[in-house]
Amino acid sequence: MSDIADNADREIDLTIRAARLLAAKPMAKGVPGECELCGEDSPRLVFNVCPPCRDKYHLK
Ligand SMILES: [Zn+2]
Repeated sequence: MSDIADNADREIDLTIRAARLLAAKPMAKGVPGECELCGEDSPRLVFNVCPPCRDKYHLK
């Protein structure tokens, strides 16, 4: 039964590691480019949409 216990331990370990990675990740990383909705250049596009448009269209 020790193999099964080892596998369970490993899975729990991976789950914890995945959770830590997600927690450490910034919420949404902005990238520079042209907004898909208004066409304005923005230094912080998220999903190709600038912050004012995300506010306007409630894309959060
Ligand atoms: Zn925009």
